[in-house]
Parts: sequence; C-alpha cells; structure tokens
Amino acid sequence: MPWVTVAALAVLAGILAAAPMRPGSDPRPAPEAALAAVAARPALPDTLRGRSGKLRARFLLPARDGSIPLLRTLFGDSAGRRPGVLAAADSAGPFHFITVRPFTDKVRGRIGAYAIGNFPGERPGGRTGAYRNPDGFVEVTERIADLPVSRQFRLRDFLTHDQARVWPKYLVLREPLVDKLELVFDELRAMGVAAGRLRVMSGFRTPQYNAQGVGAGGRVQDSRHQYGDAADVYAVVDGARDWMADLNRDGRVDLRDARLLASAAERVEAAHPELVGGIGIYPATSAHGPFVHIDVRGTRARWGAW
Ligand SMILES: [Zn+2]
Repeated sequence: MPWVTVAALAVLAGILAAAPMRPGSDPRPAPEAALAAVAARPALPDTLRGRSGKLRARFLLPARDGSIPLLRTLFGDSAGRRPGVLAAADSAGPFHFITVRPFTDKVRGRIGAYAIGNFPGERPGGRTGAYRNPDGFVEVTERIADLPVSRQFRLRDFLTHDQARVWPKYLVLREPLVDKLELVFDELRAMGVAAGRLRVMSGFRTPQYNAQGVGAGGRVQDSRHQYGDAADVYAVVDGARDWMADLNRDGRVDLRDARLLASAAERVEAAHPELVGGIGIYPATSAHGPFVHIDVRGTRARWGAW
C-alpha cells in the first residue's frame, strides 16, 4: 500500500486516541477493526466537503457485489473491497469514508440487539419518493461515536436518544443535512450573531422511538427525523449552559432567538435552493429551550411560531 503515509497514520492515531474505550467495555473486535488509513493522492474531490466546505465524512452503500465504487476510484481495488471506516487525509484535513449496512440487514425491526422498528415505506402500499425507505444504516460503535461528520458535528450528535446501553447503535444520516446545518451556522455568524456552535437536540429518530411521541402536539408519524435529513437545533455560546443563547441580545431567551436562527436557515435556502426543506420554530418548555427544526426534504415547508 504505497499510499499509506506517516501523516495519514498520525491522523489515524489521533482519531483512535480521541475515541477512548470505556473501562470494562467489551473487548471483542468491533467491525471498525478494519479501520484503515490512507493519504489521498491527488487531493480528495472538493465535492466531498459539501457546499459549506466543512463535511468530514461520506457514507457509502456497497454495490450488490460488495464493492465500494467510490473507494475503488479514489484509492484502488483493495480499498474498494474493504467495508468499514477508512480514514483519509489530504491538505484540507482528515476525512472519513464510512460503509453503511444495507437496509435489508434490519430483520424484524432490529439489527442485532438494537431496536429500530419499521419505516412507513415498509407497510403495504407504503410511501415512495422522499418517504421511501433509507438505503442503509451507519453502524455506530462506542469507538467511532465521536468521529467527526463535519467541522462541528460528530456521529454521536445525531443518534436516537434511547437504548443507552445497547451498542452498536444504528443511524440514518444524510450529508446534505449536515452541510445545511454548517451553512446555517456560518450564516448566523455572518449576520453578526456571536454563537459558538449549533447543538443538535434531536437528529435521527428510529421509527420505533418516533412512534412513542406521535400524537397531539407531539411528533408526526412521517417525521423527517426517521430519514436522517432532519435535526432540531439551537445555538449556544461557548462556556455558557447547554441551552439556546440570547442570540438577538435583548436580555431574554425566547422565540425571537429561534426566529433569528430560522431566518439564517431561510437565507441558506435562498442561496442553495437544492437544500430546501422544512423549517419549524418551537417555543421553550421546562425540558428544553426554544429550538428550530431544519430538514432537507426537497420541498419547502414552514410551521410553528414564525
Ligand atoms: Zn424536528
């Protein structure tokens, strides 16, 4: 493997160091034992880093014969036949290629011990188009949960909030959502808002988790969160509490701050019509501050407290 370099291995070592094993955790070799490092020559295509330039991962569904065409194109035949996580690096920084498990690996609503449930498209006469079943699932072990998917987001940020003790977990996540969130953050900063980062309150929701909250005032059965292209987010200030910040600096945290965040998302959609989707504004409750739902469903939708 002549393209493996010291620099790439240093990047890999950094990643492994950043993902500590918990004491007493299962020492069984995880699937990402296949994790390998390469240095990209020539540089990785710019498109991989998205419109924001800040994407740090690409999810890849293997072809029917098990090969991964993009990896073969970029790194040669041996990489194109090796599922798992491939850590690459070029002058723009580290980047990960993550092979996903095909949708058909979900059997009776589960992969392994992790309960996922059934998607609307699995019902007889089920949904199509934007509501067809996802292609596959990212297998998230404890070891790779902190892997960056973009400058400010990690795989962990988008996991369903349940089954805390079950690993690996499975995740549906689409790069255009992550790209849009990074652009929204950039837009917020360009508007002069001193936010430190966006926080994901809820990203992917498995159908079985989503179904628990369906009802009046709650989640909708066809929630985009099940498709990996929706996130409920708020903006925080570094060093402050984990809660929506006073973005408009009027001395209070309320819907006006969520509206400011939503207006940044609207500007991003105006500049990048291909990232159009839903933007919903939600008030605070005792459990959380005000937040904004952002998705990339492909058609414009607006709801909530505009
Ligand atoms: Zn939402």
